[in-house]
Amino acid sequence: MPKDYNLTPKPGKRISLADHDPNYHADHDEESARAELAILREELDEWQERLYAEGKQSLLCVFQAMDTGGKDGVIKKVFETCNPQGLRVASFKAPTSDELARNFLWRIQNQVPPKGHIGVFNRSHYEDVLVVRVNQLVPKKVWKARYEQINEFEQLLTETGTTILKFYLHISKDEQKQRMEDRLADPKKQWKFSMGDLPVRERWADYMAAYEDAIGKCNTEAARWYIVPANHKWYRDLVVMKAVVKALEQMNPQYPPPEAGLNQVKIPD
Ligand code: AMP
Ligand code: MG
Repeated sequence: MPKDYNLTPKPGKRISLADHDPNYHADHDEESARAELAILREELDEWQERLYAEGKQSLLCVFQAMDTGGKDGVIKKVFETCNPQGLRVASFKAPTSDELARNFLWRIQNQVPPKGHIGVFNRSHYEDVLVVRVNQLVPKKVWKARYEQINEFEQLLTETGTTILKFYLHISKDEQKQRMEDRLADPKKQWKFSMGDLPVRERWADYMAAYEDAIGKCNTEAARWYIVPANHKWYRDLVVMKAVVKALEQMNPQYPPPEAGLNQVKIPD
């Protein structure tokens, strides 16, 4: 296992996913990671309350991963105790004909969290330079232009009060095999398996190349990518939770000041 792991590569650098060990877990074990997660969850809840009360800025967390990479799991583990009123989760599937009739960012823009909210994207506009690129669903010229279009879109969001965190959950091909076998064997998990996941797995190398470009070309100062080591679910959850809490700390939302004269108010019988 490499001693150091570059969780947040510098903008402008080419990305090599082979240099990121999906098994990495720093000096944590499951017990210590779960214990720290529980403490941070309480901090997150407090920050979310303040963000909502302040109502001036929003946080958007984007999750991308290969099938079984843990998008559903990490969303549940990190945000499960948040106040649902201030949380918006959007899952992006293959676009409908209505969505395809617009530009690729139209359906995304529509789900951007309003001020005071945390938004969570389970898949995102990045699918339009991942599955769309690998399967050549549009001409190369079209998807190539999207990296810059995405950067400009994300820049607009950050300039208008939305902090963006982007998480790539990095699992190994072996780990995916194990998780797919688990899904097939467990009647409660079979619904998560789709025959369509197999041809995607076959093109693993093409997807890794597409991810390297997506992360490398869209890793801007305004919206950084996290390459989360995700073979260990407990470490994955902790890494994401830490990043979310840190971002909220930096956003530092404040409870609004009370209305003038509150100290004079007497509530009538
Ligand atoms: P799941 O997340 O397992 O429910 O699967 C959603 C499916 O929708 C995945 O196979 C994605 O690749 C696919 N998908 C999401 N966004 C797009 C897109 N923009 N174009 C084509 N397929 C997409
Ligand atoms: Mg799936």
